[in-house]
Amino acid sequence: MSNTISIPQSMLPEDGRFGSGPSKIRPEQVSALVEAARSPLGTSHRQAPVRQLVASIREGLASFFHLPEGYEVALGNGGASAFWDMACASLISRRAAFGTYGSFSAKFAKSAASAPFLEDPVIYQGEMGTYRLPELTDGVDAYCWAHNETSTGVAAPVRRIDGSRGQGALVLVDGTSASGALPVDVTQTDAYYFSPQKAFGSDGGLWIALLSPEAIERAANVEHSATLDGARRWVPPFLSLTSALENSRKDQTVNTPAVATIIMLENQIRWLNDNGGMDWATARCAKSASLLYSWAEKSDYARPFVTDENARSHSVVTVDLDDAISANQVVAALRDNGIVDTFGYRKLGRNQLRIGVFPSVEPADVAALTACVDYVVERLAD
Ligand SMILES: *Cc1c(COP(=O)(O)O)cnc(C)c1O
Repeated sequence: MSNTISIPQSMLPEDGRFGSGPSKIRPEQVSALVEAARSPLGTSHRQAPVRQLVASIREGLASFFHLPEGYEVALGNGGASAFWDMACASLISRRAAFGTYGSFSAKFAKSAASAPFLEDPVIYQGEMGTYRLPELTDGVDAYCWAHNETSTGVAAPVRRIDGSRGQGALVLVDGTSASGALPVDVTQTDAYYFSPQKAFGSDGGLWIALLSPEAIERAANVEHSATLDGARRWVPPFLSLTSALENSRKDQTVNTPAVATIIMLENQIRWLNDNGGMDWATARCAKSASLLYSWAEKSDYARPFVTDENARSHSVVTVDLDDAISANQVVAALRDNGIVDTFGYRKLGRNQLRIGVFPSVEPADVAALTACVDYVVERLAD
């Protein structure tokens, strides 16, 4: 092993967590857990103390996202991955179209492709480092893509596909690493769903979805209607969006949630709203991201991976390094100094750093990180 590089204390960020999810949890969120040590931690999720937290989460998100009239906030166990299967079971009637341009957007498409009661999905595949939205397609009743492709650091537009409304089709957008960090107009979607361990800086385990009246109606119809061959579709009770929504309306989940996740999420949403909500959060992430992109552009050994400036994510920033510098060594040296989770997405297989700059991350710490990377690279070259 090579000698460890020791970055001077004065250069280090105050907090060295730059993961793309799970991401930095603020100390105040952990204090909220300590305060909850006797209640509501370790108490029934069907009783008022936990239900009040869930109510606060639902109201807080409605305010943060300027929830349109008629939309509802639903939540349940299993994270965004569970929501994909739920959408296959409860939201897609026959056939969905997907924009795929990275691991996460492709995973939902794969779920739909493997559902025996659905027709083969139509896939609009984009190159890594770009995005591609699904196009208007006959016979499609749901259009799906990811707002932010966490594996590549690409942000895609969130707007209805022209003509999709006339078709009666839904728009289902994965906002997992975007929600809370990138601006969004929820009216452009029928389900905008996410997990809380990215911009909302909580732990994993939950999915949350902002549902339009059309999505709610679709779920009710799908769950009660016959499939193509006349048989009734089996919607496993755990994947019923309707029952998830019925529970959410009572500020509960279908089965037992992690109360700690709920406590930390509630604290984060209040923090975001108290600071100015979506405008504040998205401006803060844009600032952090631009510190990284402009540093990379000026650097003689690094460059932003995403070439289209408009597609560069403000929450997950990917930076390619020259082949002469091993990103693995840089990541390891940073880790030795308490700066963690700056590795690229393994399956993308690039010589790359990937940095999560969610609202909890201090822009000053991002600036410090760039100096630390320069420091490490200079010494690796020696
Ligand atoms: C992290 C992530 C997921 C998966 O979330 P889980 O909570 O692990 O299910 C899905 N989509 C995107 C865009 C993600 O970043």
